[in-house]
Amino acid sequence: MLDQQRVREDTPGCLDKVFLDSAGSSLPPRPVVDAVVSHLRREAEVGGYRAAAERADDLAEVKASIAELLGARPEDIALVESATRAWADFFYAVPLSPGDRILITEVEYASNAIAALQRARTAGAHVEVVPSTPTGELDLEALHKMLDERVRVVSLVHAPTNGGLLNPVREVVDLAHGVGALVLLDACQSLGQVPLDVVELGVDALSATGRKWLRGPRGTGLLYLRPELARTMEPAALDLHGAQWAEESGYRLAPDASRFEFWECSVASRLGLGVAVRYLLDLGIDEIEQAVSARAEYARTELSTLSGVTVRDLGGQRSGIVSFTVDGVDPNVVRKSLADKDVTVTVSGRGSTFVDMSKRNLDGVVRASPHYFNTFEDIDRLVAAVAER
Ligand SMILES: *Cc1c(COP(=O)(O)O)cnc(C)c1O
Repeated sequence: MLDQQRVREDTPGCLDKVFLDSAGSSLPPRPVVDAVVSHLRREAEVGGYRAAAERADDLAEVKASIAELLGARPEDIALVESATRAWADFFYAVPLSPGDRILITEVEYASNAIAALQRARTAGAHVEVVPSTPTGELDLEALHKMLDERVRVVSLVHAPTNGGLLNPVREVVDLAHGVGALVLLDACQSLGQVPLDVVELGVDALSATGRKWLRGPRGTGLLYLRPELARTMEPAALDLHGAQWAEESGYRLAPDASRFEFWECSVASRLGLGVAVRYLLDLGIDEIEQAVSARAEYARTELSTLSGVTVRDLGGQRSGIVSFTVDGVDPNVVRKSLADKDVTVTVSGRGSTFVDMSKRNLDGVVRASPHYFNTFEDIDRLVAAVAER
């Protein structure tokens, strides 16, 4: 069992206010904040290089912890500044020729879709959307029919930003690999709230952010690459960390996923990310999943008892994202009136997941995303605030 009292004491921001935006930017626990702040102080005392050298072991631990969480090896992880950066680093490294096809999901995150459209335009390739089933998940049969040897990459959003569903992963990987396509998993909304094992899932790459369910600092993200790709893929952009300049007219790529990193980074944030992942591993991802899912289900049940409120989550398997609308009220007005009552939620607008929102004729949904540090009373306060709005 999670020690709720301890995790709440570690999270001062959740004590007197209701914070329900871990899908946006969660509250980092106190040890994470301490790691970041103390490293910034140390940099001011001895300079950034010496401060980093003093923490070499802890810095190596960051990838080791992430690898443990993902069931991967540390050398298959690249540390970057965001999920989008990670996603793009992989995507822009996939060679594309005229006529090649890129498949995306109906719930594709806008940044991914925009990158796909840009590359399709410059390479003469095509972006196609794999339809969803009536219950919201990616339609495996439709995918099967769409796949051929021109499909280079399938971008799969595991948990969409605008609702509570979880997409199937292993099934998509098996189908895509049948035609030699790569699968890039956007795990930005799933890593840190559901168990993920990259070997079991078989994905070629996975992108995620630090600040959402992992409760890490802002400006952190990670890319996992299948070992063979970490050794062989050439990133679109390199520096003296991703490659070595050892002869005048040539360079040698780093032997592992660090070829996808640049040398400069916020060392303080990186240390904070390491502490966040270790904190999560100590609590246990299975316990976290249970706690998140119980809170989200409770919120869905209670919100749907309110007249004029519609819970918008699709899917048979659910994440911790709870999306809803209030009849005749702009979601931003709902968000604002909840904020006035110290209940923090956010709004997911049409532009973030354009295809899905357009299909469902929604301009925006209110998004509440409880984490394990939330109490059931927090959910009651959310529901009361929505009822009063
Ligand atoms: C938030 C989000 C992203 C982008 O994450 P950043 O760290 O802001 O780049 C990507 N995909 C999904 C599904 C998201 O919700």
